[in-house]
Amino acid sequence: MNLEEYKGVFVFAQQVDNVVSGIAFELIGKGKELAKDLGTEVTAVLIGYEVKGLADELAAYGADRVIVVDDPELKEYRTEPYAHALSSVIEKYKPEIMLVGATAIGRDLGPRVSARIHTGLTADCTQLDIGDFPLNPVPGQEQKHNQLLMTRPAFGGNTIATIACPNFRPQMATVRPGVMQKAPKVEGAKAVVEEFNPGFTPDNKYVEIMEVVKSVVDTVDIMDAKILVSGGRGVGSPENFKILDDLAEAIGGTVSCSRAVVDAGWKPKDLQVGQTGKTVRPNVYFAIGISGAIQHLAGMEESDIIVAINKDETAPIFDVADYGIVGDLNKIVPILADKIREARA
Ligand code: FAD
Repeated sequence: MNLEEYKGVFVFAQQVDNVVSGIAFELIGKGKELAKDLGTEVTAVLIGYEVKGLADELAAYGADRVIVVDDPELKEYRTEPYAHALSSVIEKYKPEIMLVGATAIGRDLGPRVSARIHTGLTADCTQLDIGDFPLNPVPGQEQKHNQLLMTRPAFGGNTIATIACPNFRPQMATVRPGVMQKAPKVEGAKAVVEEFNPGFTPDNKYVEIMEVVKSVVDTVDIMDAKILVSGGRGVGSPENFKILDDLAEAIGGTVSCSRAVVDAGWKPKDLQVGQTGKTVRPNVYFAIGISGAIQHLAGMEESDIIVAINKDETAPIFDVADYGIVGDLNKIVPILADKIREARA
């Protein structure tokens, strides 16, 4: 493999039902930073059916170029045709870096493509940088420059690993939604749009989609909420979450929770914050009866303001909190809700 042939930062621009997923914009935002360090451009790879119209939106968020693979076979996500489309783009255009969202689609697509084109993939990255690798070479060891340094929690979140892929290209990473920041939108920005179709043969091995049944969700996605009122095991019971519901209503927030709460069956998994839940970045995060385990912090420590309520003054959540209240949540939370209501009246 001639590594010199591989140029540019590519981003898989996930779309579902012809709506670009937020993760695509986040990856373009990060891709722009990486591309700047490498003196190159960001290319969004848009795969679907009748999706060309989405290219302008990708340009508005910073894509310099959009490669569109448009085919009826790509109307709904299916592993085989999408993997064929993305691997064909990589084989033809030879990117240096390929970023994919760690969504349900990206987690299926990314590893399959990396295996097909014979390169490595680091999953669930929380940080991406350009730098030298190995970070600390031993005497006599060659240090390669301008490598993609992919950082992610390892061993159950007990350590942070920085991983590189120095001998193969592209360097592939998946990144969880909510971790990277979108670049500001520039209305009217234009990208070079290129269409590419590697050819698709309907094949018996393809999955046939008979029907798509969408789950109806009437709650706000916790990743979009500006204020989160998050409860942990300390809340004590599913019924007692009503005091958090009340606080959330008073302050215009949304309830979320720790994994202990999900494991106990008190709340559904889509409300879980943390390493194996969602990464959130609200303006205000209330951590109520949450100890602040490292796996929980991984999903919320980038929040603008963190307010912790815990009866144990040594709880690690206080290490990341901007405001801490030591005491019984059963007393404090109702008082807080009343005071907020009074102040807003
Ligand atoms: P606890 O740790 O039991 O804390 C409860 C807290 O409530 C205590 O600090 C206690 O002092 C306080 N409390 C009790 N009663 C009251 C009261 N009346 N008033 C005020 N305070 C009170 N966890 C996540 O949250 N998200 C993840 O995504 C996640 N992923 C994980 C992945 C792996 C691989 C592993 C190994 C673990 C993961 N965990 C995750 C679990 C994590 O390690 C913790 O076990 C979990 O976060 C603990 O949840 P908790 O803080 O609600 O409960």
